[in-house]
Amino acid sequence: QAKQRGRNQHLMFDVSLDTQIIASHQVLRNVKNALQHDELVLYYQPKVNMRSGLIVGMEALLRWQHPVQGLIPPLDFLPQVEKTDLIIDIGKWVIEQALSQISAWCSAGRCWTVSVNIAALHFQCRHFLQDLQDSLQRHSDVPPHLLEIEILESVALGDINLVNQLIRDCQALGVSFSLDDFGTGYSSLGYLKRLPAETIKIDQSFVRDILDDKDDLALVEAVIGMGRVFNRKIIAEGVETAEHGVLLMRLGCDLAQGYGIAKPMPAANVLAWAASYVADPVWAMWADTQWE
Ligand code: C2E
Ligand code: MG
Ligand code: MG
Ligand code: MG
Repeated sequence: QAKQRGRNQHLMFDVSLDTQIIASHQVLRNVKNALQHDELVLYYQPKVNMRSGLIVGMEALLRWQHPVQGLIPPLDFLPQVEKTDLIIDIGKWVIEQALSQISAWCSAGRCWTVSVNIAALHFQCRHFLQDLQDSLQRHSDVPPHLLEIEILESVALGDINLVNQLIRDCQALGVSFSLDDFGTGYSSLGYLKRLPAETIKIDQSFVRDILDDKDDLALVEAVIGMGRVFNRKIIAEGVETAEHGVLLMRLGCDLAQGYGIAKPMPAANVLAWAASYVADPVWAMWADTQWE
């Protein structure tokens, strides 16, 4: 009877695995369709300098504008896509869009950096560098230094030598790098040394609790210290309140990004948002009113 039950369990497991595989195939097919039918869109979230309050850049964040389900966030469909070559097509599209957007904003007198999130599989594919170079050539009006690539700290877990070389080759084209979600991966000092990104982005899970969690505060201080040692810029993500902003600024954090400044928005809203934001540099204001 135990054997019987065992077999049934085995059977059930197989069925549910099959169902998962079918569902995941379906997702991939749908996302591929979405890419072909222009249903993928980029939202943009500002990054600001904490001391001057100036807008320094925008991060491009993917969404799926589904005709029936509405706006679908990336974590609802990207994790499955990131295991397949489809993420390469999407990443190439994202870079293409970002370069066009940089060009458009530059024409409007807003020479912001635009950051794109690139998955490990895409970054480490054989033709990444060549594709990037081709994209930059197609957009010869865009200064390459206005394009920033965000990669996860864990991107290099496979082959640190390869990733180190890749980062430096891309930097030779003028493109810069940010290590996303920093603190969640393998951030030893020796490891960081081999990831020569200009910027380190502190993960929002640590930023969120710095006001009441001593350990998270210590972690953020340590990352900022590491950044200083290696001469990297530090950006905090998930900055939701003025209190977070002021504390981070006092700790020596350079840049900030978060709902406290602005939520990700459609490209069409960005210039209007920036016009109203510049009139009111909140970081400087917070610094004066709350601490001096
Ligand atoms: P990420 O690159 O770490 O982006 C930060 C995420 O935190 C974004 O979620 C952003 O909307 C959200 N966020 C920003 N400020 C705050 C805040 O103050 N509070 C809170 N609670 N959240 C905040 P989103 O847009 O849903 O993106 C999630 C993740 O999906 C991104 O994390 C990134 O890893 C991935 N992703 C987004 N776009 C792309 C893309 O084009 N390609 C790839 N490969 N991955 C992408
Ligand atoms: Mg990012
Ligand atoms: Mg992040
Ligand atoms: Mg993240």
